[in-house]
Amino acid sequence: MTIRELINEAEERMDEANKDSNVPKVLFYHVSNMQPHELYLKMDEEVDEETLRTFNEDLQRYLNGEPVQYIKGKEYFFNYEFTVNEDVLIPRYETEELVENILYVIDDYFKDYKTIDLCDVGTGSGAIAISLALEEPKLNVCATDISEKALVVAKKNAHDLGAHVTFYQGDMVQPLIDAKKKVDIFVSNPPYIPVHQDIDPRVKDNEPHVALFGGEDGLYFYRKIFETVRPILKDRAILAFEMGFDQRDIMEEALQQYFPDCPHRFLKDINGKNRMLFIYYNIE
Ligand code: GLN
Repeated sequence: MTIRELINEAEERMDEANKDSNVPKVLFYHVSNMQPHELYLKMDEEVDEETLRTFNEDLQRYLNGEPVQYIKGKEYFFNYEFTVNEDVLIPRYETEELVENILYVIDDYFKDYKTIDLCDVGTGSGAIAISLALEEPKLNVCATDISEKALVVAKKNAHDLGAHVTFYQGDMVQPLIDAKKKVDIFVSNPPYIPVHQDIDPRVKDNEPHVALFGGEDGLYFYRKIFETVRPILKDRAILAFEMGFDQRDIMEEALQQYFPDCPHRFLKDINGKNRMLFIYYNIE
């Protein structure tokens, strides 16, 4: 069988099953280690047995409902290639915008600093912490996660990408309190989906629930952070969060309760949805 025949056949199967017909090509690049232009030139060559077997296994995993990123074991975030598996949330495009905006904030408020201390709480794959460490050499980055297994992935990513990040295992802010850390910038993309919300089965059945769900209204972890974060903030600090697009009103209420005197700002993502929250702690 030629590569062309294999892929065509697989694409037809996807159409019939109402699945994404781009996936066969994506998986074929992965199993064959070919770039798109190479594949284009080799379409009429025979598929070797090993490639055929792995391709069929991977395709079956996709048909069984697994996300392509877990099958490949990789996802790009901020142009860096991160290893991902079932122990971590797959990094999302929306979160790249959070990283982007944090880089702007650094420019706006911390330009003259020689070093800037930043923490990423609930780091998962390490996507936020590692990208920031790589993008801004002035940052001194630490990150926490409650999941030991997630930290294995995050540490591998930091190592493979050459980022210097100090990792702590523990619940949200607690390990940083214990380590007597003080930060200029606090970042988190905590789990924010309300527990009873219906979500895409490919997400719900595969991604770690500890990374997805944030209690009844989705704000459980934000409140927990708001309650406990002050001891790790420097006199002047910025807190940056990703949040659910429909959580602005309840977030306002939580901010009234925990940070009534601090200015804050909601930022929209590329789709025009409220997606980020910045709190200015003793910064006008
Ligand atoms: N910080 C990680 C990310 O943004 C993980 C977030 C999470 O697991 N909720 O990708």
